[in-house]
Amino acid sequence: MKPLISDVPLKYRIKKVGKYNAYVHICPNCLDYNKDLITLGFNEFEGNVIRIIECPICFKKFWHHIKQKDLLETYLLELKILRK
Ligand SMILES: [Zn+2]
Repeated sequence: MKPLISDVPLKYRIKKVGKYNAYVHICPNCLDYNKDLITLGFNEFEGNVIRIIECPICFKKFWHHIKQKDLLETYLLELKILRK
């Protein structure tokens, strides 16, 4: 199921920043495959929920689409844990 922006609690919605990252799990700046990009928050772009991320090495910010609701829930859980 496709996620909707209404699935994202207000406190986790942030401004869209950085470039589009088609690689999703890879920083396009470092091109490192073994890195955990950090979820900063979510927003919406052209009717789709997007995840805004930061590279823990070069600190560049990117965003990509979230296509599945269960994936969104995983990222939301990650954010909840990080902000505790
Ligand atoms: Zn990077």
